[in-house]
Amino acid sequence: MTQRTVTIIGGGQSGLHLALGLQSHGYDVRIIQNRTADDVRTGRVMSSQCMFGNAVALERDLGLAFWEEECPDLDSINFSVPLPDGSGGKAINWNGMLDRKAQAVDQRVKIPGWMAEFERRGGRIEIREAGIAELEAAAATSDLVIVAAGKGDVTRLFARDEQRSVYAKPQRAMALTYVTGMTPRPEFTAIDFNLVPGVGEYVVFPSLTTTGPCEIMVFEGQFGGPWDCWGDVRSPEEHLAKSKWILDTFLPWQGERCRNVELTDPNAVLAGTFTPTVRHPVGKLPSGKLVLGMADAVVLNDPVTGQGSNNAAKCASMYLDAILRRGAGAFDAAWMQATFDAYWDYAQYVTNWTNALLQPPPPHVLKLMGSAQAYPALAKRIANAFDYPPDFFPWFAVESEAEAYLQQLAA
Ligand SMILES: Cc1cc2nc3c(=O)[nH]c(=O)nc-3n(C[C@H](O)[C@H](O)[C@H](O)COP(=O)(O)OP(=O)(O)OC[C@H]3O[C@@H](n4cnc5c(N)ncnc54)[C@H](O)[C@@H]3O)c2cc1C
Repeated sequence: MTQRTVTIIGGGQSGLHLALGLQSHGYDVRIIQNRTADDVRTGRVMSSQCMFGNAVALERDLGLAFWEEECPDLDSINFSVPLPDGSGGKAINWNGMLDRKAQAVDQRVKIPGWMAEFERRGGRIEIREAGIAELEAAAATSDLVIVAAGKGDVTRLFARDEQRSVYAKPQRAMALTYVTGMTPRPEFTAIDFNLVPGVGEYVVFPSLTTTGPCEIMVFEGQFGGPWDCWGDVRSPEEHLAKSKWILDTFLPWQGERCRNVELTDPNAVLAGTFTPTVRHPVGKLPSGKLVLGMADAVVLNDPVTGQGSNNAAKCASMYLDAILRRGAGAFDAAWMQATFDAYWDYAQYVTNWTNALLQPPPPHVLKLMGSAQAYPALAKRIANAFDYPPDFFPWFAVESEAEAYLQQLAA
């Protein structure tokens, strides 16, 4: 078979994963990426990128889990809700151990590392912003063009799927704060998920950043509420002070862990919003040539459930398998649609679950989250479903199924 050429637009989590995978199978792969490795390494934090066992295993299988020894292991998921009386006590608090460790390697570490590895193995990375003209040029010279541009403007080439996109605007004011000096949790590590009803979610966990081990704070504030508070923040120091104010005011046990925290670096903070969106996966260029969208470019979820990088790894892995299986066959519209559909068979659960968590929880979900305190098996199941969200269905989504499951646990 003659060597097949693939151009990937965007060298982030999914683009580099697929590029390195194809490269290892002898494909001629080129990446067009709008930031150099140094831009990424020295730039602003982008994500909290916590990845669970299944996604980490996909990277390991390709020989890409370079930071596995260095990066802190995340052993469990902890879930807390404060008492509504402002006393600082907890109404709900449980912990579910993960069967396999999760890890969060800062993308400012991982992406430059993978870019260097791809080039070391002979891959080509062209640094420039790809617009329609670049896509046309790539489509004219490649067997396949994949758009893995994340939230980049070029993804507008893919029409929004109105049926699958339930939100027309952003649902949370998001913020990230990377710190050192946080008091560790007792016993074992956790992805520490704190829900303040009607206000927002705060998730915190250990990670590996450019300066070494750290903790990542993720804030998800409901619009118009007290955590929708980043607009008047003028400096990283003010951002850190605001982060500590939120914790001291709403989650004092978390505030207590932060008496001595400092930012990991001057680019350790981020605040922003985006609209969760599902797009049609096949993009048609003015010439009539087709390109295929991958990961966030076509299925963009709110980060509240921490699934985007996991999805990106799983999508890249499924696309890799589909490309290999295609052999010398044409990468036509039917193949592109079928390749995406196979991914959507999985991703729809992540999207539906994530979108549901952005709404006020229905009574059966409140009951499940509260009951996990009494039933360790339920806590463990919820924790491990973060690694494979289809396992939330149907019992988490359907009231009668939730009741049946709780009765089974009680028996
Ligand atoms: C606040 C926040 C917290 C998050 N926390 C988590 C978490 O805990 N767990 C988790 O799994 N996920 C998390 N995510 C999501 C995760 O980071 C993304 O879903 C994941 O990085 C998506 O991978 P991707 O390859 O689709 O896109 P990206 O990793 O964003 O890569 C896209 C690449 O394309 C490049 N690019 C864009 N436009 C162009 C263009 N026109 N030409 C050339 N290059 C271009 C970009 O520079 C970038 O390098 C979080 C996201 C946010 C915002």
